[in-house]
Amino acid sequence: MKAGGLSITLIESPDIRIIGVGEGTWPTMRSTLEKMGVSETALFRECDAAFKQGGRFTGWMTGAEDDAYYHPLMVPQGFTQVNLVPHWLRGGQGVGKGVSFCDFVTPQGRLCDEGLAPKTITHGEYRALANYAYHLDAGKFAPFLARHCTDKLGVRHVLADVVQVNQRESGDIESVLTKQVGEIHGDLFIDCSGFQALLIGKTLGVGFKECGDVLFCDTALAVQVPFDSPDEPMASQTIATAHEAGWTWDICLPTRRGVGYVYSSRHQSEESARETLLRYIGPEHKDLPVRKIPIRAGHRETFWKGNCVAVGLASGFLEPLESSAIVLVELSAKLLAEQMPACREVMDIIAKRFNEVTLYRFGRIVDFLKLHYVLTKRTDTAFWRDNVDPATVPDRLRDLLTLWKYQSPWFFDELDRLEEVFPAASYQYVLYGMGFETEVAPEDTADTALAASRFLRENERITGEMRARLPKNRELLNKIYEYGLQPV
Ligand SMILES: Cc1cc2nc3c(=O)[nH]c(=O)nc-3n(C[C@H](O)[C@H](O)[C@H](O)COP(=O)(O)OP(=O)(O)OC[C@H]3O[C@@H](n4cnc5c(N)ncnc54)[C@H](O)[C@@H]3O)c2cc1C
Repeated sequence: MKAGGLSITLIESPDIRIIGVGEGTWPTMRSTLEKMGVSETALFRECDAAFKQGGRFTGWMTGAEDDAYYHPLMVPQGFTQVNLVPHWLRGGQGVGKGVSFCDFVTPQGRLCDEGLAPKTITHGEYRALANYAYHLDAGKFAPFLARHCTDKLGVRHVLADVVQVNQRESGDIESVLTKQVGEIHGDLFIDCSGFQALLIGKTLGVGFKECGDVLFCDTALAVQVPFDSPDEPMASQTIATAHEAGWTWDICLPTRRGVGYVYSSRHQSEESARETLLRYIGPEHKDLPVRKIPIRAGHRETFWKGNCVAVGLASGFLEPLESSAIVLVELSAKLLAEQMPACREVMDIIAKRFNEVTLYRFGRIVDFLKLHYVLTKRTDTAFWRDNVDPATVPDRLRDLLTLWKYQSPWFFDELDRLEEVFPAASYQYVLYGMGFETEVAPEDTADTALAASRFLRENERITGEMRARLPKNRELLNKIYEYGLQPV
């Protein structure tokens, strides 16, 4: 390709499979795909994609039957103008009594309860009434994107194994030697080689910062569960269920569920973990093949060194909770595209920026993931007891938890960085979904009280309207297969 003076070559091994398990995404995926010119209709038709409107967390707080909360993808009503947390904590001036924080401020939990889609067939591609991301088949999505990039964006796709990396005296990468097509030269090398980190780790020797002392899960057992009937109702959210030494993800696609148990091998044996997984999916599925995937929670110390930048698993991975990995790929790709160095002379300056931002993002994701564990009141197993040990909580998160006892996180807390992966709204949903207590003043000023009651009424109105208008997930997907969505 020679658009903007750039030519891009994607080198991919014909034999080494992609990891193939990242099936929950973040709403950023919509703008990423739209910007790339991907047809959303084709995505639904070819990647077994479905709508995701958030996460439902069951068993994380007490482990009791009724222990569940939502982290939806819509921000609370009027989020940039008024913080509704204090109103909810005070009992919502009558409106919020006994209502979950999520239902108090957004329709999305109720949409998920009813299995409703976030849009109708008359909404154009990527447009919607309710914010959404996707659940999709990772095995279909990767070749779908590769086809789009080669057919429409002029990327050259070479199926070959990199067997050697050649460096210049300066340490920069000169070329990669492949088994099938010989040497391939480049000015900038993007390491997308997955966990093995062929360029950034093995060749350039960039260190790895372990995060296993904070996030304990180090093994995943993944399985694909077929539906009993092809028209089974579809969940609108990822279901994250806590167990004795970890949690299961449950992702609903149109043709199957993707389920996995992520656990700490320090706290549970593999045999017992397999039993936990089987208990979750049901004994009728005992013969389904289960894939074991070791996870080393952590990330590279730097992500861009010399003329090599790591993206995806090569840059690091924490754990699947809250689908935070593919969003980082998107943000890194965006940053790289927007800041593409014009020449080698400026590369180190841009690399420094990239490293600062990516390190910051990894740090904030560690904090946000740990939040889910540290707020637990479960004491039934060592896994949950160890998770609340203050020594395992990052300093910044510890400080914030102290601050949030007296003021709730809000809009201004996310102003320190643009494109925060998890904004203050996400913190609100998890904190108050898990029963965190923040002391609030007994009363509001008159103008905030007025604004709050306006947004609460608005939330009720929108909730009613959406419930009346929105179809069920499967109903909308069937229409998309048949008619397609209007391209925008
Ligand atoms: C258990 C688990 C669950 C996850 N769930 C989620 C989730 O729900 N949401 C989310 O956002 N993320 C999730 N992730 C992370 C997500 O899967 C990845 O971030 C995403 O798939 C990107 O992977 P990748 O392309 O970096 O690596 P891979 O998919 O491993 O791809 C590596 C590529 O490098 C190529 N390659 C390797 N060696 C060579 C070589 N020598 N020569 C040429 N090519 C080579 C391979 O052929 C392959 O194409 C999960 C990860 C795990 C482990």
